[in-house]
Order: sequence, then C-alpha cells, then structure tokens
Amino acid sequence: MTTCIICKGENPISELNSLTDGHIVPEFIGGSLKVKNVCKVCNSKKGAGFEGKLANSLFYKLPRFLHNIEGKQGNLSTPFSGVYEDVDIGKFQIIPNRRPVSHSRYQN
Ligand SMILES: [Zn+2]
Repeated sequence: MTTCIICKGENPISELNSLTDGHIVPEFIGGSLKVKNVCKVCNSKKGAGFEGKLANSLFYKLPRFLHNIEGKQGNLSTPFSGVYEDVDIGKFQIIPNRRPVSHSRYQN
C-alpha cells in the first residue's frame, strides 16, 4: 500500500512526505504497536496537535512519572517542574530530575 491511511492520498507521497510508522497507542504512554502507512505530514500533525497537548498535560504527565514510562527520548521528568511561589518559603523552582531550588538560589 502506498497511500497514507489517514489522509488517503490528500498529502501526496514524495521524498519529503514519505510513509512512516504511526503509533496506534501514543508512544508517550508506552505504546509500541505501529501501523506502517502514515505519511510524515499526518504523523507530524498527530504529534503536534492532539497527542502533543495530551503528552504535556498533567493528566498524562503524572501517571507517566509514577509508572516510569519514559518519553520518546528516553527521559522521564517530574510533572511538577516549573517556578512556584509559596507564602512561607517564597519563590522556588522545580527543575526536572533535581531537588527544588529555594528562592535565594533561584535567579529570575
Ligand atoms: Zn497522510
């Protein structure tokens, strides 16, 4: 089969838009089952659109972190990374794979 199963040829297959493997269950939640005929354009839209938003949501980051499901690059970072401010301890930053840095050491 030489036609993309998602766009059914709407995006013509070419050197720049070749057929790729598409994950049936998104890779960011540990999916490894693939289909063969997804064009690069459609695969990129999946990753940048709906799947990307899900992957970056706390709803998916937390269970990935708790169950050690590594991302595509093999990294696993805390879903709570960011800069926070607390009434008692002030401003602090949580950096992936590090202990929290207190406001006195945090440079904004
Ligand atoms: Zn396509």
